[in-house]
Amino acid sequence: MKKCNLDRRQFLKSAVLSAATIGLSHQAILNRAEAATRKTDFSQKIPHRHLGKTGASVPILQIGTAQTLDQDYDKILHLLFREGVYYLDTALSYGWGTSQKAIANFASQIGGRNKLWITSKSGAWSLNGFVKDIDECLADLETDYLDLYLRHSVNDADDINRDLIQIGEKLKKSGKTRFFGFSSHGGDVVELLNKAVKTGGIDAILFSYNFRRYGHRELSLAMDNCKEAGIGLIAMKTMGSVPADAEAVLNFKSKNFTLGQAKLKSVWADDRIDSVVVEMDSIKVARENIAAAISGEQLTANEIHQLNRLAAMTAQYSCQGCSHLCEKAVNKSARIADSLRYLMYHECYGKTDIAKEFYHLIPTNSRSLSDQETTIAQSICPQGIDIKSRLELAQRKLSS
Ligand code: SF4
Repeated sequence: MKKCNLDRRQFLKSAVLSAATIGLSHQAILNRAEAATRKTDFSQKIPHRHLGKTGASVPILQIGTAQTLDQDYDKILHLLFREGVYYLDTALSYGWGTSQKAIANFASQIGGRNKLWITSKSGAWSLNGFVKDIDECLADLETDYLDLYLRHSVNDADDINRDLIQIGEKLKKSGKTRFFGFSSHGGDVVELLNKAVKTGGIDAILFSYNFRRYGHRELSLAMDNCKEAGIGLIAMKTMGSVPADAEAVLNFKSKNFTLGQAKLKSVWADDRIDSVVVEMDSIKVARENIAAAISGEQLTANEIHQLNRLAAMTAQYSCQGCSHLCEKAVNKSARIADSLRYLMYHECYGKTDIAKEFYHLIPTNSRSLSDQETTIAQSICPQGIDIKSRLELAQRKLSS
């Protein structure tokens, strides 16, 4: 223990000296040096897991902040913080730029940014833009460092390359972020994970993972490879949402859990997942998720069976974002996965305004398919989605 403290003091001293040489303020130097050695262990109410080989221990439940946060006093963030969920996942684009500012305000209310883990992301097209955006993130968040900075929404494995890794290394060296990685909403997630292993230099990946992906052999092997390489895996889209009336066909029954809790439990049952990001837009949902995280109860065989049945019964409503299949098969400009994702925002989350705004960013000629293209796309879709009628529905609901 003594030796540990001594090492930490020595580390702090050398970190302070090296930071001083790049012209940081005294407080910024202390903040960064503290962050670099911190074990991120403010509360053990919520179980923790190691984030890959970063050395950081993080709660298994994080709050996603794509929803609109209360700019003055966000009671959900405060509740979660009191219960040990101090890991916030945001992005430059969330809340049309307001999420980070609300988090800055929240941080000042709880006694400072150092009490939080903050992940942020930039979806800039160019690497230069990605580098510049971290300064905007820091300014909005009123902090001088992030805990994790992610390239947002990487769907093409070619984007995981040495240039990106070198930028990540530079940003870490500058002290602007402690760790670095990428998030992915779609594309060939197996290829992306394997490319990250091959390229090296990625600390963590945020990707879609839920009960619908259990049994996907190639994905499972890619996750094994990531774990072996020490890459932290963070799951999002853990609810695998479909419209409520489609989900109701199952009538999920459990003594211990709601359906939402069972879905979270099914992801945590996979110990390759270090943490999950969940949007919690009500106190009720926040309390349910906290209870699920703390509960020592595991899913029963019957509950797992029910989730498997739900996945099978509702597959045709659940686009997995595997655009490398359907979109590649028809033509490169088709935006099937994005159209269906925005339809999901409308149908499942009631976020119609945001869904419409995103949908309008898709060029008109990329929103629909010819009959021949539809036949090809539908024949290749592993979910058996009626792509034609779903794209038509997206057009009706979101184009106005
Ligand atoms: S429509 Fe089917 S093939 Fe296309 S992205 Fe969705 S799930 Fe994958």
